[in-house]
Order: sequence, then structure tokens, then C-alpha cells
Amino acid sequence: MTAKSAAAAARATVYGYPRQGQSRELKKAIEGYWKGRVDADALRATATELRRGNWRQLAEAGIHEVPTGDFSYYDHVLDTSVMVGAIPERHRAAVEADALDGYFAMARGTQDAAPLEMTKWFDTNYHYLVPELGPDTVFTADSTKQVAELGQALALGLTARPVLVGPVTYLLLAKPAPGVAAAFDPLTLLDRLLPVYAQVLTDLRTAGAEWVQLDEPALVQDRTPAELNAAARAYRDLGGLIDRPKLLVASYFDRLGDALPVLAKAPVEGLALDFTEAAAANLDALAAVGGLPGKRLVAGVVNGRNIWVNDLEKSLATLGTLLALADRVDVAASCSLLHVPLDATAERDIEPQILRWLAFARQKTAEIVTLAKGLGGGTDTIAAELAANRADLASRAGSALTHDPAVRARTAAVTATDARRSQPYPERAAAQRAHLRLPLLPTTTIGSFPQTTELRTARADLRAGRIDSAGYEERIRAEIGEVISFQEKTGLDVLVHGEAERNDMVQYFAEQLTGYLATQHGWVQSYGTRYVRPPILAGDISRPEAMTVRWTTYAQSLTTKPVKGMLTGPVTMLAWSFVRDDQPLADTARQVALALRDEVNDLEAAGTSVIQVDEPALRETLPLRACDHPEYLAWATEVFRLTTAGVRPDTQIHTHMCYAEFGDIVEAIDDLDADVISLEAARSHMQVARELAEHGYPREAGPGVYDIHSPRVPGADEAAALLRKGLEAIPAERLWVNPDCGLKTRAWPETRASLENLVTAARTVRTEL
Ligand code: GLN
Ligand code: ZN
Repeated sequence: MTAKSAAAAARATVYGYPRQGQSRELKKAIEGYWKGRVDADALRATATELRRGNWRQLAEAGIHEVPTGDFSYYDHVLDTSVMVGAIPERHRAAVEADALDGYFAMARGTQDAAPLEMTKWFDTNYHYLVPELGPDTVFTADSTKQVAELGQALALGLTARPVLVGPVTYLLLAKPAPGVAAAFDPLTLLDRLLPVYAQVLTDLRTAGAEWVQLDEPALVQDRTPAELNAAARAYRDLGGLIDRPKLLVASYFDRLGDALPVLAKAPVEGLALDFTEAAAANLDALAAVGGLPGKRLVAGVVNGRNIWVNDLEKSLATLGTLLALADRVDVAASCSLLHVPLDATAERDIEPQILRWLAFARQKTAEIVTLAKGLGGGTDTIAAELAANRADLASRAGSALTHDPAVRARTAAVTATDARRSQPYPERAAAQRAHLRLPLLPTTTIGSFPQTTELRTARADLRAGRIDSAGYEERIRAEIGEVISFQEKTGLDVLVHGEAERNDMVQYFAEQLTGYLATQHGWVQSYGTRYVRPPILAGDISRPEAMTVRWTTYAQSLTTKPVKGMLTGPVTMLAWSFVRDDQPLADTARQVALALRDEVNDLEAAGTSVIQVDEPALRETLPLRACDHPEYLAWATEVFRLTTAGVRPDTQIHTHMCYAEFGDIVEAIDDLDADVISLEAARSHMQVARELAEHGYPREAGPGVYDIHSPRVPGADEAAALLRKGLEAIPAERLWVNPDCGLKTRAWPETRASLENLVTAARTVRTEL
């Protein structure tokens, strides 16, 4: 086929769409169902309407081939577990009694059966439910959901393509079921799983699917030769089926690397590849394997996970190059649009000029359609769109928001000295000991105290104008007063003000920094019915005024014990926001770091001797491929130091991390040059402390002795036992006593009891030293 006819066939498609509906109808219906206010039929009806609405929206926008099966009541990986019959033993009875209730039981747990574990979907902020597999797992095909949803789309007269999690990715994301040896490798189940996928594919073919998409994002990570072989085998087997739909194997979030030749050689009819900046290497790699002769290439040129308007001309150029490399080139977003909000035009508070720089799911859909049209019909057919796009890009590039000369000058003037404290750690530690005069095994908390309904109501009242800001501030000060007096009474050593004023640890700062945008409706699914509205890092970042100083100094005025100042670090500020795509991440991070550095210095000037800069996202932001880690860790640790290095030697810098194993980044944690780190450790019985010790971590550390993820109150004996374990790894001079994380999600009664026990435990163990 010539390039010209390939272009003429260009079609527009997407792999998935936001599930929640315009006003988060799905969340409301599901939570209503959980509370017994919505019955199963009503929930199903809502879901059906939402799916139809999405398909219509896509079709009306000009999408030629709509996805099906991407919808979910909770999570698409959980849906895949149901599809292949991988129901954990403990949930089997519930699933057999009622499929829907059993499904939610797996997602959320019940009184007697724990839910499936939840973890991050690659490097996004979406969380999936981890399949639990073992040597005894028996897979059985259940294609009901996939077949039904395909049928619904076909009934609307649409061309539809079911989207499934591919078998290799499914197994690579799984973990050994409880009771199964940790060494068990779920990939050994591939031969058992493939017949089930074959059955589902056959069922979908029978139901009218011409194409089926199998998502294999796990192949963009580092894979062993055995894993790559498994992928080759999987697609040789599935490709060899007779009477099957055409197969489109999709990858996204990064480049395919060694997996690209494997998939290119596989007997499938199409590949979908990410061609955004992060995966740009796919282009050369594809050329290097000689393209995809005889195959369909779906080109993910519109970034499916950020919110910026596409550079249409650049995308067209990429598409033009690709035309020579495949039999047919179609246009798509790089990944499911699940990761972006629904519709930018719903935003009323963003200046119209700036709104034009943004593309949420609906706008991205339009971009894809435009690109497909331009690719097929030539640029003349989209001249108006190209002109408008050029104007939007120019407006963004030339805007005062994205180019603040003062911020630019300051960032350019940063030197290596700015990111280095004036004295090395051992000398600082001595100065801090003299200055703070803390007991051995000092006790502290991670920052937040319970976010009560009253606090949330006060914030809602302020927003709605029912109270003025003076009334709100008074309310917050009263809360700070209670938090301080509780900590004094309980005998904690380093106090916190409790973060009562913070709605969220990123949003709170984003709202006060120039260069950040907030959305009103920019909801993105985090997990299940939980949606978040990430702020947008849109422009150059500066801090018009101090953000936390008045709360911390007020708290400090109530006590003679040190009150720890509390900030969110630059990496976490980036990780939980939509970031700029018009400059390197490191540059954005440096701007945020400088703004936070001013806050750190202001806190110190106001008399704060202990300042904590939280970086819970440091580990989760690691790039998907190991060869990209050093570059990331270099700037990530540098911006932390830039944030914190401006203080005196006797000012103690703390940091905090949670949600992960740390063994592989101990060196980077050391590079932060913080004085004290608190980490999540209670559930893993101080595993973290051992990891730090094994790597010779030389600084002070507080591995958590109180698991704050559950309302359960740890006994003083239990906390003491964990502390003694901690002492086996970290000497008493360097061990802190603290919970795993902040207490904002906990209620007061269990918080009180737990912290009292924590202090008792510290006192007991001190007497044993
Ligand atoms: N200081 C924050 C808090 O205590 C830290 C939260 C986090 O690590 N996720 O809530
Ligand atoms: Zn935490």
C-alpha cells in the first residue's frame, strides 16, 4: 500500500474515556448503592446511560472507532480478574451469592474478608486492585461484561473496539495470593491464562467485534528475556487462533524498547504505540525494525495524561513520518483518557485566554479527529484548526504567566552552593542536639491531626460566604490550641500545629503560589469512587507571601516545646499536579523549590527550629525504566536540597515519605541531606529500618510504630516491641518515635489513645537503654 492510501484510511480512536460523567453521576450512584439508597437496577441503568452518553459524545465529535469495556464500576484490572475468574478464595462465596456485591467486596473488603490490595497504575495517580494468584489458580472465562458493553455500542450503530488488559500485563501486575510463597511468579500461569483469553476473544468475535485491543503497558518497563519470551509466546498463541477478531496490541506511558521487535514480529494485525515526548524513542525504534509492513499502526500522538493543548503541526509531522512505516496509520491519544478531566469548557474561573491552552478529554478527542482528518485529507482540510492552534500555542509561549522574568532570573542564578547546607550533617547534628535538647527516642507526629467534620464545614462555610475569613481563622486557631494542648498533655517532644487549615497537602500550597491554576470540575479518578482535582502547574512559580508562617508561629506561641513547621516538598508538588510540558520537569521543580525555600527561611526567621518537608511522592515518581532513574533522582534530590539548604546548621530539617519500599533509593534519601526522616514502617515490622541500616544510612530516622491506615489503636506494648526492633537496626541516638503518616483521616478518640500509647512506649524503652 502506498503512503497516500494509508493516509486516506486514517481514522480517529481512543482507548478509554473518563467514566464518571459530567457531574460525577457514577460516583453518586455507586456510593448511593453502597448506602442502600440506590438499587442494583438503578445503578446499572445509570452506568448504561453514562456509557451511551460517552459513546455518543465520541461519535458526534468524529471518533470513528469507539472503545468498549473500558467502563468500570471500580477498576478495570479488577474487571479483568472477574473476566478470567481469578476470584480470591475469601471472596468466592460473596461473588457466587451476588456478582455485583461480590465485586464491591473484592474492591472494598467486608467485615471478614480483606479487599484486594490497591496500588498505583504504572506512574499515574490511578490505582488498580492487584490480582492475587497462586499455583492453584484456575482461570475460567467470563466475557459477560465485555460482550454486553460491545453489544450496547453496536446497537447504537457505532464501530466499536473492545479494550482488554492484555494477558502478559495482567500477570505481571499480579502478586502471590495470601499463603502462597513470595517467590511464586504469576507469569508461570501464562499457559493456563491464554485459553481463557482465547475464549473471550472468540466470544467477542461472535458478538460482532472486528478488532479487539489488548493493552500491554507492562512491556514499557524493564523486562527480562523470559518475560519478553512470554509476550512473544502469548501473541503467537492468540494470533494463531482461528476465527478470532483482529488484534491490536497497545502500549503506553513510555517507549517499548526491547519489546518493540517482539510485538512487531507477532502475528497480530496492529500495534498502538505512544509517540508523545516520553516515548519519542518509539519512532526510531519502529524505523529500526523496518516498520510494521502489512499492519495497522495506531499512533498515540495526543498526550492522554496531561491537560495541554496539542501541537497539531508537530503531531502531523510525526504522523507523516509514520505513514512510511505501516500499512495504515490511525490517530489516538497516547493512553486512555481516564487520566484527564472530562471537559475544559466547564471551567468558569479560568481566564478564557488561558483556557484555550488546556485540553481535557473532550478537547483531546477533537484534536485526534482533526489530526486524522489532516492526515487523510491534507493540511488544507484543517487550515482553520491549525491556525487556531498556532495562535493558542503562541499565546501560551508568549504569556507573562509562563515567562516571569523575575522567576527566570532567580532560577538562572542558582548555584551548587545554594543547594548545599553550610555544614556537613555530623556537625549540624551536634548543633541541633545542643539547641533542641531532646530526650533520646524523641516523639513526634507527621503533621496532620484529624480533619474533623467541623473543620471541613468551616471551610465550606468560608467558601459559601457564611463565615468571613476572620471567623474562619478564629476557628483554625481554636483547633491549633486544642492540638497543642493535647500534645503537651500527652508528653510528645516535638509538636506540630496539626494542619487544620489544609484541605490537601498539595492544593493548599498550589492555591497560594502564583503560576498554579485550580479547576472547579477537573475531577480525575484516583481509585473506585475517589476522584481528585489535581491543580495545574501552568506558569512560572513564585510565592507572593508567606503561606504557613502565621499558623506555625501561633502554635509556637502556645508552648515552650519546639513546634515543627510543615511543608510539602517540590517533587510531591509536581507529582500530584498536572505539570507543564513546555520546559523540563526539573526546571519547574526548581521554581517550586525556590518558592518553598523562601517559606523555609521565613519559618526559621520566625523562630521555628524544626522544619519538615514532606516528599511522599519521591519514590512513586521514579521513571518506569531503571536507566532513567539516575537523571530523575539527581534533580529530585537537588530540588529538595535547594528547598532546605538555606537554614542555619542548628535548624533541623525533617522529611517524610510513605507508601513504598525504600531499599532501592536509600542512597537518594541520603542525598536529600535532611537531618531526620520519618517513614512508613509499622505494617512491615520495621523492614524500612533494616533497609536503612543495611545501606549504612547515617542520619536520624523515625520508622513508624503506629499504622495510621486503620482505626485500630496499637497497644503501648506493641509500639514498644516495634521500637525495640527499630533499635536493632538504628542506634538510640538516631531513632525517633512517630506514627507512619499524618493523622488527618483518623478520628480523635483513636488518635488520642494511640499517641498516648506511643509516648508510653517511648518512655518504657528509654528506661531500657
Ligand atoms: N504532613 C502530612 C500529613 O501529616 C504528610 C502526609 C503524607 O505523607 N501523605 O498529613
Ligand atoms: Zn505519609
